[in-house]
Amino acid sequence: MRNSEPIEKLIASFRNLPGVGYKTAERYAYYVIGADLPEVQDMAKNILAAKTEVKFCKECGGYTNADVCSICRSRSGETICVVAEPKDISVMEKVKNYNGVYHVLGGTLSPLENRGPDDLRIKELLSRIQTLKTKEVIMATNPDVEGDATAMYIARLLTPLGVKVTRLAQGVSMGTDLEYADEVTLTRALEARRPI
Ligand code: ZN
Repeated sequence: MRNSEPIEKLIASFRNLPGVGYKTAERYAYYVIGADLPEVQDMAKNILAAKTEVKFCKECGGYTNADVCSICRSRSGETICVVAEPKDISVMEKVKNYNGVYHVLGGTLSPLENRGPDDLRIKELLSRIQTLKTKEVIMATNPDVEGDATAMYIARLLTPLGVKVTRLAQGVSMGTDLEYADEVTLTRALEARRPI
């Protein structure tokens, strides 16, 4: 062991973070040790608060610390943008001219991972569409095989109900995660959305 045990444990914790290798984890650990105590206490407090206070919005399934998130409380449900994961909401919020609400599916259809329609929040989507009198559903799942299959499945379900279903245009290149798309690309993809 190169460092003392508490340092090694901290490095191990940082290494669990996505995209962080040993060197970066070590830098973070030394930063924490060199920082003022109040700053470190604040950091630890924020991590715990985020973990214990953040929950899923009862309506859209996005992250919130209230029962219903501020987006669901303040916007019309005429348009619903369907995303796979809660974090995708903050990505879509980069698009300035989107004023609708969201719906988190909790994943995409994946035969490989044994994830079928019943494992996604599709029933909840149908009931929200009825309650909110939704006119358009924009499918913003990732432009990959699973994201496309999920969009198609939902389109087949909703079109007979008289709901317009559109898909973000392929400004986001094939196989690129929604999360890496910039604001301009996303805005274009939304403007050029097509019916499916
Ligand atoms: Zn919500």
